[in-house]
Amino acid sequence: MAEGDGSAVVMFSGGQDSTACLAWALDKFERVETVAFDYRQRHRIELECRPRILDRLRAAFPEWAGRLGQDHMIDLGVMGEISESSLTRETEIKLQADGLPSTFVPGRNLAFLTFGAMVAYRRGARHIVGGMCETDYSGYPDCRDDAIKAMQVALSIGMDRRFTLHTPLMWIDKAETWRMTHRLGGDKLVEIVRGESHSCYLGDRTTMHVWGRGCGACPACELRQAGYEKYRAAP
Ligand code: ZN
Repeated sequence: MAEGDGSAVVMFSGGQDSTACLAWALDKFERVETVAFDYRQRHRIELECRPRILDRLRAAFPEWAGRLGQDHMIDLGVMGEISESSLTRETEIKLQADGLPSTFVPGRNLAFLTFGAMVAYRRGARHIVGGMCETDYSGYPDCRDDAIKAMQVALSIGMDRRFTLHTPLMWIDKAETWRMTHRLGGDKLVEIVRGESHSCYLGDRTTMHVWGRGCGACPACELRQAGYEKYRAAP
Protein backbone atom coordinates (compact mmCIF):
# COMPACT_ATOMS: atom_id res chain seq x y z
CA MET A 1 0.00 0.00 0.00
CA ALA A 2 1.16 3.53 -0.76
CA GLU A 3 2.55 5.33 2.26
CA GLY A 4 0.91 8.29 3.89
CA ASP A 5 -2.00 10.48 3.05
CA GLY A 6 -3.52 8.72 0.07
CA SER A 7 -4.25 5.42 1.78
CA ALA A 8 -7.39 4.36 3.60
CA VAL A 9 -8.80 1.33 5.34
CA VAL A 10 -12.57 1.03 5.07
CA MET A 11 -14.60 -0.94 7.58
CA PHE A 12 -16.69 -2.78 5.04
CA SER A 13 -19.29 -5.18 6.47
CA GLY A 14 -21.30 -5.73 3.31
CA GLY A 15 -24.14 -3.50 4.51
CA GLN A 16 -25.67 -0.55 2.73
CA ASP A 17 -23.87 2.07 4.80
CA SER A 18 -20.42 0.56 4.59
CA THR A 19 -20.79 -0.04 0.83
CA ALA A 20 -21.63 3.65 0.40
CA CYS A 21 -18.59 4.50 2.53
CA LEU A 22 -16.40 2.25 0.40
CA ALA A 23 -17.49 4.11 -2.73
CA TRP A 24 -16.84 7.42 -0.94
CA ALA A 25 -13.31 6.28 -0.10
CA LEU A 26 -12.63 4.95 -3.60
CA ASP A 27 -13.61 8.35 -4.96
CA LYS A 28 -11.28 10.15 -2.54
CA PHE A 29 -8.19 8.04 -1.85
CA GLU A 30 -5.66 6.56 -4.22
CA ARG A 31 -5.37 3.30 -2.31
CA VAL A 32 -8.18 1.62 -0.40
CA GLU A 33 -8.17 -1.62 1.56
CA THR A 34 -11.19 -3.20 3.21
CA VAL A 35 -11.65 -4.92 6.54
CA ALA A 36 -14.55 -6.95 7.94
CA PHE A 37 -15.24 -8.62 11.25
CA ASP A 38 -16.75 -12.01 11.87
CA TYR A 39 -18.22 -11.77 15.38
CA ARG A 40 -20.71 -14.60 14.83
CA GLN A 41 -23.40 -12.08 13.97
CA ARG A 42 -26.79 -13.57 13.21
CA HIS A 43 -26.67 -11.80 9.88
CA ARG A 44 -23.31 -13.37 9.02
CA ILE A 45 -24.66 -13.68 5.51
CA GLU A 46 -23.55 -10.04 5.09
CA LEU A 47 -19.98 -11.33 4.94
CA GLU A 48 -20.89 -13.46 1.92
CA CYS A 49 -22.21 -10.36 0.16
CA ARG A 50 -18.85 -8.63 0.39
CA PRO A 51 -16.87 -10.46 -2.34
CA ARG A 52 -19.80 -10.05 -4.74
CA ILE A 53 -19.95 -6.32 -4.04
CA LEU A 54 -16.18 -5.99 -4.50
CA ASP A 55 -16.31 -7.92 -7.78
CA ARG A 56 -19.17 -5.83 -9.09
CA LEU A 57 -17.48 -2.56 -8.11
CA ARG A 58 -14.30 -3.65 -9.90
CA ALA A 59 -16.26 -4.56 -13.02
CA ALA A 60 -18.47 -1.48 -13.10
CA PHE A 61 -15.85 1.11 -12.13
CA PRO A 62 -12.46 0.39 -13.73
CA GLU A 63 -11.01 3.58 -12.22
CA TRP A 64 -11.83 2.20 -8.75
CA ALA A 65 -10.56 -1.29 -9.53
CA GLY A 66 -7.00 -0.01 -9.64
CA ARG A 67 -7.36 1.60 -6.22
CA LEU A 68 -8.97 -1.31 -4.46
CA GLY A 69 -6.37 -3.30 -2.58
CA GLN A 70 -6.31 -6.16 -0.13
CA ASP A 71 -9.38 -7.33 1.76
CA HIS A 72 -8.96 -8.35 5.40
CA MET A 73 -11.30 -10.60 7.39
CA ILE A 74 -10.77 -10.47 11.14
CA ASP A 75 -12.15 -13.23 13.33
CA LEU A 76 -13.74 -11.70 16.44
CA GLY A 77 -15.70 -14.78 17.45
CA VAL A 78 -14.85 -14.02 21.06
CA MET A 79 -17.13 -10.99 20.83
CA GLY A 80 -20.10 -13.23 20.12
CA GLU A 81 -19.16 -15.36 23.15
CA ILE A 82 -19.03 -12.40 25.53
CA SER A 83 -21.97 -10.41 24.26
CA GLU A 84 -25.60 -11.23 25.04
CA SER A 85 -27.08 -9.18 22.24
CA SER A 86 -29.84 -10.24 19.88
CA LEU A 87 -27.33 -9.61 17.10
CA THR A 88 -25.29 -12.53 18.40
CA ARG A 89 -28.00 -14.64 20.10
CA GLU A 90 -31.31 -16.02 18.92
CA THR A 91 -33.27 -13.68 21.15
CA GLU A 92 -36.05 -11.25 20.41
CA ILE A 93 -35.12 -7.88 18.90
CA LYS A 94 -36.71 -5.25 21.15
CA LEU A 95 -36.09 -2.07 23.09
CA GLN A 96 -34.63 -2.82 26.52
CA ALA A 97 -35.51 -1.20 29.85
CA ASP A 98 -32.35 0.95 29.62
CA GLY A 99 -33.59 2.46 26.34
CA LEU A 100 -31.01 0.65 24.21
CA PRO A 101 -32.08 -1.81 21.53
CA SER A 102 -31.37 -5.47 22.33
CA THR A 103 -29.22 -5.55 19.17
CA PHE A 104 -26.64 -3.35 20.88
CA VAL A 105 -23.32 -5.19 21.18
CA PRO A 106 -21.44 -3.22 23.84
CA GLY A 107 -18.10 -1.98 22.58
CA ARG A 108 -18.56 -3.40 19.10
CA ASN A 109 -17.67 -0.28 17.15
CA LEU A 110 -14.92 0.62 19.60
CA ALA A 111 -13.35 -2.80 19.02
CA PHE A 112 -13.87 -2.54 15.25
CA LEU A 113 -12.10 0.82 15.18
CA THR A 114 -9.23 -0.57 17.23
CA PHE A 115 -8.77 -3.59 14.96
CA GLY A 116 -9.27 -1.39 11.91
CA ALA A 117 -6.47 0.85 13.19
CA MET A 118 -4.25 -2.18 13.75
CA VAL A 119 -4.72 -3.12 10.10
CA ALA A 120 -4.18 0.51 9.03
CA TYR A 121 -1.00 0.68 11.12
CA ARG A 122 0.41 -2.45 9.54
CA ARG A 123 -0.54 -1.29 6.06
CA GLY A 124 0.77 2.26 6.46
CA ALA A 125 -2.65 3.87 6.01
CA ARG A 126 -3.54 7.06 7.82
CA HIS A 127 -7.25 7.15 7.06
CA ILE A 128 -9.90 4.88 8.54
CA VAL A 129 -13.42 5.06 7.16
CA GLY A 130 -16.57 3.79 8.88
CA GLY A 131 -20.33 4.00 8.32
CA MET A 132 -21.26 5.16 11.82
CA CYS A 133 -24.16 7.56 11.80
CA GLU A 134 -25.81 9.67 14.46
CA THR A 135 -28.78 10.85 12.39
CA ASP A 136 -31.00 7.83 12.10
CA TYR A 137 -28.79 5.54 14.04
CA SER A 138 -30.34 2.66 15.93
CA GLY A 139 -29.53 4.17 19.31
CA TYR A 140 -26.02 2.72 19.53
CA PRO A 141 -23.90 5.01 21.72
CA ASP A 142 -20.68 3.93 20.01
CA CYS A 143 -21.97 5.32 16.70
CA ARG A 144 -22.01 8.83 18.12
CA ASP A 145 -19.64 11.45 16.80
CA ASP A 146 -18.08 12.04 20.22
CA ALA A 147 -17.28 8.33 20.55
CA ILE A 148 -15.54 8.33 17.16
CA LYS A 149 -13.60 11.51 17.94
CA ALA A 150 -12.52 10.06 21.28
CA MET A 151 -11.34 6.90 19.49
CA GLN A 152 -9.37 8.96 16.99
CA VAL A 153 -7.51 10.62 19.85
CA ALA A 154 -7.01 7.36 21.78
CA LEU A 155 -5.79 5.39 18.76
CA SER A 156 -3.50 8.15 17.54
CA ILE A 157 -1.88 8.58 20.95
CA GLY A 158 -1.90 4.90 21.85
CA MET A 159 -0.36 3.73 18.55
CA ASP A 160 1.80 6.84 18.13
CA ARG A 161 0.48 7.28 14.61
CA ARG A 162 -1.70 10.10 13.36
CA PHE A 163 -4.95 8.46 12.28
CA THR A 164 -7.89 10.33 10.79
CA LEU A 165 -11.26 8.65 11.29
CA HIS A 166 -13.81 9.48 8.61
CA THR A 167 -17.54 8.95 9.03
CA PRO A 168 -19.12 10.37 5.87
CA LEU A 169 -22.61 9.30 6.96
CA MET A 170 -22.49 10.77 10.47
CA TRP A 171 -24.92 13.63 9.89
CA ILE A 172 -27.02 12.37 6.99
CA ASP A 173 -30.08 10.14 6.93
CA LYS A 174 -30.60 6.98 4.88
CA ALA A 175 -32.27 8.84 2.00
CA GLU A 176 -29.29 11.17 1.82
CA THR A 177 -26.98 8.14 1.88
CA TRP A 178 -28.72 6.92 -1.31
CA ARG A 179 -28.29 10.39 -2.84
CA MET A 180 -24.60 10.33 -1.95
CA THR A 181 -24.36 6.86 -3.50
CA HIS A 182 -25.93 8.19 -6.69
CA ARG A 183 -23.61 11.19 -6.79
CA LEU A 184 -20.60 8.88 -6.46
CA GLY A 185 -21.52 6.22 -8.99
CA GLY A 186 -24.89 6.98 -10.59
CA ASP A 187 -27.59 4.39 -11.17
CA LYS A 188 -24.92 1.69 -11.63
CA LEU A 189 -23.77 2.09 -8.04
CA VAL A 190 -27.30 2.45 -6.65
CA GLU A 191 -28.16 -0.87 -8.31
CA ILE A 192 -25.15 -2.64 -6.83
CA VAL A 193 -25.95 -1.35 -3.33
CA ARG A 194 -29.67 -2.08 -3.68
CA GLY A 195 -29.22 -5.62 -4.98
CA GLU A 196 -26.08 -6.85 -3.24
CA SER A 197 -25.65 -5.07 0.10
CA HIS A 198 -27.19 -6.61 3.19
CA SER A 199 -29.00 -4.92 6.11
CA CYS A 200 -31.48 -7.43 7.59
CA TYR A 201 -30.64 -8.37 11.18
CA LEU A 202 -32.16 -11.82 10.69
CA GLY A 203 -29.91 -12.58 7.72
CA ASP A 204 -32.90 -13.10 5.45
CA ARG A 205 -32.11 -12.70 1.73
CA THR A 206 -34.93 -14.82 0.32
CA THR A 207 -37.20 -11.96 -0.82
CA MET A 208 -36.14 -9.14 -3.13
CA HIS A 209 -38.05 -5.94 -2.32
CA VAL A 210 -37.67 -2.67 -4.20
CA TRP A 211 -35.25 -1.52 -1.49
CA GLY A 212 -33.20 -4.73 -1.46
CA ARG A 213 -33.28 -8.15 0.20
CA GLY A 214 -34.48 -8.76 3.75
CA CYS A 215 -37.25 -9.99 6.03
CA GLY A 216 -39.01 -6.64 5.71
CA ALA A 217 -39.96 -6.54 9.40
CA CYS A 218 -36.85 -6.16 11.57
CA PRO A 219 -35.60 -2.66 12.57
CA ALA A 220 -32.76 -2.78 10.02
CA CYS A 221 -35.16 -3.65 7.18
CA GLU A 222 -37.64 -0.98 8.30
CA LEU A 223 -34.91 1.66 8.34
CA ARG A 224 -33.64 0.59 4.93
CA GLN A 225 -37.10 0.52 3.39
CA ALA A 226 -38.08 3.94 4.80
CA GLY A 227 -34.82 5.47 3.58
CA TYR A 228 -35.14 4.05 0.09
CA GLU A 229 -38.76 5.16 -0.24
CA LYS A 230 -37.86 8.67 0.92
CA TYR A 231 -35.01 8.72 -1.62
CA ARG A 232 -37.23 7.52 -4.47
CA ALA A 233 -39.80 10.19 -3.61
CA ALA A 234 -37.09 12.89 -3.79
CA PRO A 235 -33.98 11.50 -5.48
ZN1 ZN B 1 -34.92 -7.87 8.36
